[in-house]
Amino acid sequence: MLGCPKGLLNGPCGGVREGGICESGSIKCPWYEAVIREGIRLATPKLDEGFRVRDFKPLLKDPYSTFLSKLSRGNDVLVAEIVPSLSSLKYVKECGKLADALSITDNPAGTVKLSPLAFVAMLKGSIESDVIIHLSCRGKDRDTLTSTILGALGLGVRNFLAVTGDLPKSNLSKTFFDLDSTRLIYLARLLSDKGLNYRGGKVKVSSKFHVGATLNPHLRPVKVEVVRALRKVRAGAEFLITQPVYEFNPLRELLNNLIKLNIDVPVVMAVALPTHPKALGYLRDMGVKVSKVFFKGFIRSYKSSREVGALKYCLGETSKLVEEALSSNLLIRGIYITTVGKHSYLPYALKSLRGIVGS
Ligand code: SF4
Repeated sequence: MLGCPKGLLNGPCGGVREGGICESGSIKCPWYEAVIREGIRLATPKLDEGFRVRDFKPLLKDPYSTFLSKLSRGNDVLVAEIVPSLSSLKYVKECGKLADALSITDNPAGTVKLSPLAFVAMLKGSIESDVIIHLSCRGKDRDTLTSTILGALGLGVRNFLAVTGDLPKSNLSKTFFDLDSTRLIYLARLLSDKGLNYRGGKVKVSSKFHVGATLNPHLRPVKVEVVRALRKVRAGAEFLITQPVYEFNPLRELLNNLIKLNIDVPVVMAVALPTHPKALGYLRDMGVKVSKVFFKGFIRSYKSSREVGALKYCLGETSKLVEEALSSNLLIRGIYITTVGKHSYLPYALKSLRGIVGS
């Protein structure tokens, strides 16, 4: 699409902000405007000429991982987000005992971090929970993404989260997006279910695996996110993980719309537990909506008891939200927790929410 700085075929991406403004800040997203105009007609995944197999229609398949198995049995799962680094390594073992799955990010928010693949290799099979590796399209071509999946399978990983990836903070002209999350999901399902690469060639794959996508309850009007979600599910997404939420009604509206379209993919609702006003500001910059009441309560708690006060406040508010979500009878089958990079607080947060989220 002309004007999209990532040159995507399936937009808008997760970088679209309120009112359809692109994350670059300089333009209105042309994809957003196209979806407003054409609606559900844009929910068909678009493939470029590099994809020789174009008629594959991936369906939900039997579980090949503990994570998917729990989701499909209707158990409420608890997922912990880990940003890979040498310092987060020391919390991983404890978090692995408390969560059903660890979700390992891939250079989030346009930053450069330790490779998720190398991080999983460093764990040397020492954790008890399942692993979800994020696969970002930023700066990787489709061959690199394919070889990353094959490498991760060799390490025992059976779950991937496909994301388009954010624009980098600098060196914008040096990065590239060969794929978007929709085409990456299709590529992954071809590999997993058919043992084929995007060119249609046979590939020896050690196991079938699962690929999921993100879901943004903050985007309005809701039909923009409905189109995005439907397109990813048609491309083969087997689970959906939301952006962090602080109030349930926008997500309820989105899920009701997905259910009307017969989408039956398990959803994991994310909650963020920032411990510093800067971390809350970062979430808001990423498009996460935070109510005035929450914001005031957070700042009051931080001023009176610093990080611990902020964490306790977030946990108190989040617990009510989690109970509401899990009892909603919508598609929600689990809770995803991020402490926005503060891994030292993650075990405490997991223990606190374990009482509400069954294993
Ligand atoms: S929001 Fe995403 S899809 Fe839209 S113009 Fe920006 S980069 Fe492209």
